[in-house]
This record gives sequence, structure tokens and C-alpha cells, in this order.
Amino acid sequence: MAFVIAEPCATCKDTSCVAVCPCDVIHAGVVERDGARFDQFFINPDECIDCGLCEPECPVDAIFADDELPEPWKEYSEINAT
Ligand code: SF4
Ligand code: SF4
Repeated sequence: MAFVIAEPCATCKDTSCVAVCPCDVIHAGVVERDGARFDQFFINPDECIDCGLCEPECPVDAIFADDELPEPWKEYSEINAT
């Protein structure tokens, strides 16, 4: 499992999560997928240690544990991994 950043990040991108991540696995990026463009921050699921420190720091509640992603944002698990 890993933590995942979903859609609300795209409107904020204030880097509060980056500042607290002990593993430096949160990165800004742009992902193109099925004709859509995702310009926000992402978590590398291969390096995230599931500490959860980032989740409460996000001012727009964009961060979720992978298995707690709201239904409309399920695809963000794969988008973060991309
Ligand atoms: S859960 Fe921990 S390791 Fe994973 S992205 Fe958040 S702060 Fe970083
Ligand atoms: S704190 Fe939230 S909005 Fe800011 S970069 Fe992290 S996930 Fe995006």
C-alpha cells in the first residue's frame, strides 16, 4: 500500500506535504493519460513507507491511503504510480 495524491492538489500545490515527508518521495509532475492532463504533486508508491505524515498537512484534503481513495478518484492510484 501507499498514500496517493488526488485531484484537489491541482488547485493548490503548496508543498506542505513535501516538507514533512521523511523519504522525499513526493514530486511535482505532469501526467498525460487518456487525453487528460494531470499537473500536480504525486507520491512514488514504490518508495512511500506509509507513515501517513503527509495526509493531515494537506490544506485541500487531497491525500489518501490507497485503499481509502474516494470512488471518483480511484484512478489516481495508477496516475501517481505513472
Ligand atoms: S505516507 Fe509518509 S512516506 Fe508516504 S508520501 Fe506521505 S509522508 Fe511520504
Ligand atoms: S499539501 Fe496537498 S495540495 Fe499541497 S502539494 Fe501536497 S497534496 Fe498537493
